[in-house]
Amino acid sequence: MATRVVIAGGGVAALEAALALRALAEDRISVELLAPEPQFWYRPLAVAEPFGLGEVRRFELAELAAAAGAVFSPGALVRVDVGSRLAWMSAGSSIPYDVLLVACGAVPTPAVAGALTFRGPADTERMRQLLEEIASARVGRVAFVVPWGAVWSLPIYELVLMTAAYLAGRGVDSVELMLVTPEEEPLQLFGRAGSEAVRELLEERSVAVQTSCCAVEFVEGELLLVPEGTIAVDRVVALPRLRGPRIDGLPQTVEGFLPVDAHGQVHGLSDVFAAGDITSFPVKQGGIATQEADAAAELIAANAGADLTPQPFRPVLRGLLLTGRQPRYLRHVITGGAGDVSTASPEPLWWPPAKIVGRYLAPFLGAFAGVESPPEAPSASGAVSVEVELDAASAHGLAAPRLELAPDAEREDGATVADAMSTDPLVVAPEDTLGEVAARMRAGDLGSALVADYGRLIGMITSRDLLRAFASRVHPSEARVREWMTADPVATSAATPIEAAVTLMTQYGLRHLPVVEDERPAGLLGLRQARQARAHTGVGLGF
Ligand SMILES: Cc1cc2nc3c(=O)[nH]c(=O)nc-3n(C[C@H](O)[C@H](O)[C@H](O)COP(=O)(O)OP(=O)(O)OC[C@H]3O[C@@H](n4cnc5c(N)ncnc54)[C@H](O)[C@@H]3O)c2cc1C
Repeated sequence: MATRVVIAGGGVAALEAALALRALAEDRISVELLAPEPQFWYRPLAVAEPFGLGEVRRFELAELAAAAGAVFSPGALVRVDVGSRLAWMSAGSSIPYDVLLVACGAVPTPAVAGALTFRGPADTERMRQLLEEIASARVGRVAFVVPWGAVWSLPIYELVLMTAAYLAGRGVDSVELMLVTPEEEPLQLFGRAGSEAVRELLEERSVAVQTSCCAVEFVEGELLLVPEGTIAVDRVVALPRLRGPRIDGLPQTVEGFLPVDAHGQVHGLSDVFAAGDITSFPVKQGGIATQEADAAAELIAANAGADLTPQPFRPVLRGLLLTGRQPRYLRHVITGGAGDVSTASPEPLWWPPAKIVGRYLAPFLGAFAGVESPPEAPSASGAVSVEVELDAASAHGLAAPRLELAPDAEREDGATVADAMSTDPLVVAPEDTLGEVAARMRAGDLGSALVADYGRLIGMITSRDLLRAFASRVHPSEARVREWMTADPVATSAATPIEAAVTLMTQYGLRHLPVVEDERPAGLLGLRQARQARAHTGVGLGF
């Protein structure tokens, strides 16, 4: 019997996976796509819309799914019962699966309070109005902000460059434009050549660059930075921070992302895969989403009996930077190194030169939209072909700067986390049942427990998680900690200044912060205790 694959999502990763599955194991697999929206949005040109230089395209998902050999059903996945292999929809119905691939994308949330958050097509009109205002009122200084955390930063570079071209085209030269980013170099993810190319473009257009800055709020003409500092500006445009949508019954990070292995398998769950922006891989980009989808599809196809050796996900980042003049093409194999293997060129380094590159999706969408089939690939002058192992840890630092402590923040004076943390937190195992953990938390009058696997901290579970699970009517002796915990929690060390820990907890919205030593649970810091300890010291300790 055919393996029943349910794909939750109707975006880039979902379609690429459906196409890959058809190509690799059509006769062994049936595919159903579920998504709340009946359309597929091709968003990259959203940045060009406010300038009248391009428009967002959308396609009927039912038609795309049918052309990809899949069935489309409207619905939003809200919960997974991994024990019974059921995907639960928001409407209350459930769909049985043999394999579930979660490709629900990410939800954009405002990251800089008071700024115009540019999420995509929904903000075209607001951006257009802001441009008119900037041009006519000759607004003094405008900052374009990359926030810390999970974002795809390329669009803000495009927006600032296109704004510069737009103003120059109207003869406005009195407006100062500025790019503010937590990256150490502009567009750092694309490596040295990418950074240099974009720095050159920014300089050409007189855009000032402020790197290593975490902006969090725009209030009364000041852009506030953490840990400290302000920049005086008149208007602010920021990218949103991305969050994974909550799906009960699956381990998600504090930002809502699903931790996966190199084949897209959600940690600890053999029949559940994930691909695209919802995974905890830090680069939230369409091309990367398709590569993750391909890796997942290969393992699913192989497990269904197709004759192939599934290849792990090895991310190659490709980007086409829209500048308002000639586009630049950027390519980088993510190695976590210094970015020596990147190239930048005015010629496309891959084909077709679509903004979202997917092995199956790009030609499929091209054909669907009636675009002529591309000629043979042009010679990739200047392109460097590299084969390197993925270094996801470094990619994390480059793509999604976390709010962390500067090395010099660990000061000798004042209170530290060690002064306020509890040193005997409850530590449970991922395979423990929720019933067992609830009983132990109740016995110890505790609100949370740390989850460790072979001694290493991999998660945290709180009384809220238990409440969520029991409200979903899971069976206490069947549901496991692994399915309901917060995976890969944000953690700190005992030597961290208490002030810094409080900032960290506030910015991430945490009430409990695990304390680790060599990745092992060493304690737990409650927000109340942390605030009390800070109040007792009576001084701000810096960050
Ligand atoms: C302005 C902008 C410009 C961009 N430019 C580029 C670019 O130039 N190049 C590039 O490669 N990438 C670009 N990106 C990023 C790219 O769009 C995303 O990385 C990519 O779409 C991620 O694919 P995905 O399938 O994970 O999510 P999406 O494409 O967002 O699809 C998510 C799908 O899941 C569905 N869904 C949501 N919740 C549920 C649920 N609970 N159950 C079932 N389905 C659900 C949604 O309806 C949607 O169909 C850009 C993004 C933006 C916003």
